[in-house]
Amino acid sequence: MPKKITILHGAGGSESQELIKEVILGRFSYKKFDVPLDALDDASVVNGIVFKTDSHAVYPLFFPGGDIGRLAVCGTVNDISMVGGKPLALSLAIVMEEGLDYSVLEKVLDSVKIACDEADVKIVTGDTKVVEHGGVKEMILNTSGIGIRSPYLDHNFEIVEKFRNINTRWLLDSNLQPGDKIILSGYIGDHGIAVMSARRQYGLSSDIVSDVQPLNHMVEKVLKVGGIVAMKDPTRGGLSNLLYEWCEKSGVGIEIEESKIPLREGVKAACEILGISPLEIGNEGKAVLAVVPEMAEKVLSTLRETKEGAYSQIIGEAVSGHDKVVMKTIVGGRRIVPRPRGDPIPRIC
Ligand code: MG
Repeated sequence: MPKKITILHGAGGSESQELIKEVILGRFSYKKFDVPLDALDDASVVNGIVFKTDSHAVYPLFFPGGDIGRLAVCGTVNDISMVGGKPLALSLAIVMEEGLDYSVLEKVLDSVKIACDEADVKIVTGDTKVVEHGGVKEMILNTSGIGIRSPYLDHNFEIVEKFRNINTRWLLDSNLQPGDKIILSGYIGDHGIAVMSARRQYGLSSDIVSDVQPLNHMVEKVLKVGGIVAMKDPTRGGLSNLLYEWCEKSGVGIEIEESKIPLREGVKAACEILGISPLEIGNEGKAVLAVVPEMAEKVLSTLRETKEGAYSQIIGEAVSGHDKVVMKTIVGGRRIVPRPRGDPIPRIC
């Protein structure tokens, strides 16, 4: 039987990882850039330019708290920020289904504009294509973005180096060491549940709104404090996939405390109805930071002063001795968090 692409291949879990590693990386491996494709980090760095691309196929296009336009801007802005870049400019490519209402396009473009203003980035190049009815579902957006090195990144690493050695100049997934504290910038699961409720499937009605927001201003504030070794946004695959990527690339284990993970009652209830883990749901306005332990409280209090990170928590730390994500549960037990194979809710980003 010839191999076929399945929905799991686009879901950000272990199936996606296998596809990328086995089919794509082998053809395009080139390790000479500052942060190459092979690093599979949130963005790459080429001759000092931070570069990222991201396609958005969320359905429905509009959901509580956001829409595909806002998502497309925030996704790329956030990935550039996560490696220590300051995002400057984006491209916007629009693939539309024949028959799409003009008003829908205009509403999405207005939202793109608002999100760009919030993030202080500009759309500088783009493309429009129309495909026959059924070729896409209403609309797919792609944004690519470029950024420069954050002016505060050198200071951040100077603070790290007061406490330990680090041999990169960017915030990479491979930078963690045992002892580093893990900080989550707020509630998880909101985005996935908001999109799910907009689909009106499974009788799910909730007042949860998506967290989709640009994080570049928040990131700038914590880089000014310093002591951060890695940063990543828990998008597809959620918090658990993010932590496993850190474990794998840094050669550490990670222990987290369930009681510290910010989770809204509505998200918890929806997850129970759907039989899914909030740790595997994609978020669009959250960051996870790995910080040298000596600076963790200072970074935490700075995050909490921002509107984006007001509900930040230290949720755990990197450890030696195993290579898994282990959670201390609310009832006092310890369990291995499974690595997601795919996204429990498809097409939320
Ligand atoms: Mg990311």
